[in-house]
Amino acid sequence: MLRLCQTAGASCGACCGLYNSHDLSREGLRAELSRRTRALARVPRTPAAFRAAAAALAEGAPTPLFPSVRICPLLGFLDAEETRVGCLAHPLATGGADLRDCGAYDVVTCDAFLCPSHAWLSEEEAALLARALAGDFHLYGLVVTDVPFLRAALAGVATRTGTQVELRHLEHAPFRAALRRLLALKEELAPGSEGLFGAFRPGNDGEPLPRRIDYDALGAAPSPYDEILTCVGADPRSGNDLESFEGEVARRLDAAAAAFPRPAGR
Ligand code: SF4
Ligand code: SF4
Repeated sequence: MLRLCQTAGASCGACCGLYNSHDLSREGLRAELSRRTRALARVPRTPAAFRAAAAALAEGAPTPLFPSVRICPLLGFLDAEETRVGCLAHPLATGGADLRDCGAYDVVTCDAFLCPSHAWLSEEEAALLARALAGDFHLYGLVVTDVPFLRAALAGVATRTGTQVELRHLEHAPFRAALRRLLALKEELAPGSEGLFGAFRPGNDGEPLPRRIDYDALGAAPSPYDEILTCVGADPRSGNDLESFEGEVARRLDAAAAAFPRPAGR
């Protein structure tokens, strides 16, 4: 089965509430994860101690973006270098005890939950994304939970190069860097934008709800980059500057296409 949460290079903490914060910056999220990791390192591995620590951590947490969505204070860093985000109450992190009942949910829920991306992403797409964003938990979590965005970005590159992007193309470091920069469009969105949490809004049939930029209401002509802008969620009603975002999309697509590895002699 496809596993997206912890892979060789990438890790995600989105469904544990990582991005439910007014301060979505890389630095802001890193500081909160670091605070929790340092605090929990000193706590005895018992349910009572972990429950008390979780309650204390929740008290001092940053303001949530969506108050009704839970934030688990037991999400932190799994490595000393602070590159891998994950559950600090999981037996693999505690050294034996399963303390996930002490967090925002319960152990059954934590164990069973798989976000919709597990059903939507192909093996190739998942591997490609993990390779492109290895070591970058902040951006990986934003993109792995938004399959339409990833697909629109890859399709945008394919339109320019005439070749579908495959995992092997990411062995070319300049292209890998340019693709990462393209996917980092997610980090340019205004807080609360549709695009940040798009994949968590499935329709009644479980498929993602279509997003649409209402150009008529804006009095603007549809963008030539409508598909990617729509998938990114750069709708100006959620606080984004559509025109400058459009320019940025074009620049980053051009850069990715320019860095795309060409067969020798072409
Ligand atoms: S949001 Fe999805 S990929 Fe991320 S940790 Fe949760 S289940 Fe895993
Ligand atoms: S206890 Fe559950 S919700 Fe909390 S960090 Fe672990 S897996 Fe996520």
